[in-house]
Amino acid sequence: MSKIEDLKQQGLSLKLYNLYECVEALIKDAELKDSSYQEFLETVLEGEIRTKEKRAQEIRLKNACFPTLKSLDNFDFDFQKSISKKKINRLLDMDWIDDIFNLIFLGPPGVGKTHICVALGYKAIEMGYRVTYTTMDHLMYALKTSDISRKSKSKVNKIHSSDLVIIDEVGYLPITRDEANLFFKLVSELYEQTSIVITSNKGFEDWNELLGDPALTTAILDRLTYKCELFNITGKSYRLEHRQSIV
Ligand code: ADP
Ligand code: MG
Repeated sequence: MSKIEDLKQQGLSLKLYNLYECVEALIKDAELKDSSYQEFLETVLEGEIRTKEKRAQEIRLKNACFPTLKSLDNFDFDFQKSISKKKINRLLDMDWIDDIFNLIFLGPPGVGKTHICVALGYKAIEMGYRVTYTTMDHLMYALKTSDISRKSKSKVNKIHSSDLVIIDEVGYLPITRDEANLFFKLVSELYEQTSIVITSNKGFEDWNELLGDPALTTAILDRLTYKCELFNITGKSYRLEHRQSIV
């Protein structure tokens, strides 16, 4: 094996992936620039740190399970006037996650609730936070089956180790009494530990009916709204207004 090949293999066994992939380029570059030993070492280590951060971000993104990727750059705030661009942009520093604030987006279908919460979640991942996205329906399934399904158990564990949990589409499908209890248990466990983002097509006044018990609804809303920013989104469905057709 050549010396270069030896270095590559040593890099690989130490999980120095940038060294493994770029050892020749690193050496050539150092020769070209006539780098000092110290400069060379710095370049090698910086490359390793960059590569590790990129891989970690890719893993966080995969773990988040977003249904699609969205960015606020292509959110049309002129179309959606009920939500302030300034207020949403202020959330991009992610201080609210550090302060364990929740966000609740209420509004009819197609007004951009999922778009905004996925865009915020993606930004949070870029900034190093662990995020889990789930619909309420999938969340209920995971909570109900976590004792018998390893996949569900791992999803529930992931939720508990996240900095931010996005629960989309609360209220689209009916919830049984047992499911409402499981939801309360989760919200209580995450309370003041993890930021929660909720989207719902139902106003709070309809949550009683959704969750089937006024005392439970009050207890859940109490916890969710204690430290919370509420966005009431109104207006027309972006989907309907921008309907695409093939003919
Ligand atoms: P909701 O979750 O409120 O039902 P979505 O966020 O899924 O709505 O939006 C439906 C579709 O319309 C998505 O493809 C989304 O990217 C797009 N959309 C919604 N509002 C806007 C907007 N103001 N600007 C750009 N795209 C939007
Ligand atoms: Mg949605």
